[in-house]
Amino acid sequence: MSMHAAAAAAGARVKRRLEPTMICFSEEPALAEAGYRFAMRVTCNVKQSLEFRRSGQRPDVLREKYIGAGNGSTTTFPVGDLSALQSDSACRGAVRCMLAELPQLRSLHLADGEWDSVVPADIVRQIVRVARGDDANDGFTFCFAMKVHLRIIYNNKALLMACNEREPGSDGIETDDDCPICLDSLEGEPAVELPHCKHAFHRGSISTWFCNKTTCPLCVGDVRPCVLPEFPDL
Ligand SMILES: [Zn+2]
Ligand SMILES: [Zn+2]
Repeated sequence: MSMHAAAAAAGARVKRRLEPTMICFSEEPALAEAGYRFAMRVTCNVKQSLEFRRSGQRPDVLREKYIGAGNGSTTTFPVGDLSALQSDSACRGAVRCMLAELPQLRSLHLADGEWDSVVPADIVRQIVRVARGDDANDGFTFCFAMKVHLRIIYNNKALLMACNEREPGSDGIETDDDCPICLDSLEGEPAVELPHCKHAFHRGSISTWFCNKTTCPLCVGDVRPCVLPEFPDL
């Protein structure tokens, strides 16, 4: 499979949605004692969730974790040059650079395009408005709180991709040689083993099964946790 085809296949089974929101915004007087006139104080809370969607249904949240909650989630950045905040594009770039310093966001391993969308547009609008205002040169600290929710959404194709090709004569748990779903022989047709229980089925039969169910037809073990090896810490 080419790199491109592999990326397309992964895209079909996993979607990432990045949802940044602003919670509040305020301007405070400059932090004179800190030695700079302009600064941004960012409070950023991050939530990451792993969700599973079957066709035509709403996603189920499988796991959820919060990163950077509490006092440790606030960071202050000095701003050397006010002009960096006086146009939309410059301000967006400056905020993006600051957010890229935050460990709670770095832990999400965002792609380039995701970093572009991590900055809530309403924060940029508010900062530019104040930075262009008449009293801007007196100095100020922008304070804002934001929330970033990264949703990783699997679909049922991911279940099939988590299965292993069944090797003829492989020594998993013994099954008889018929597919438990269609009762035809497993020999001569592509067959797979489920990752957690090694029960074997025709690839086509289990693929149809996964359109409606996420468990093994024989032992009823949930296959969904097996599609998540990339996220051991969630
Ligand atoms: Zn079958
Ligand atoms: Zn099973």
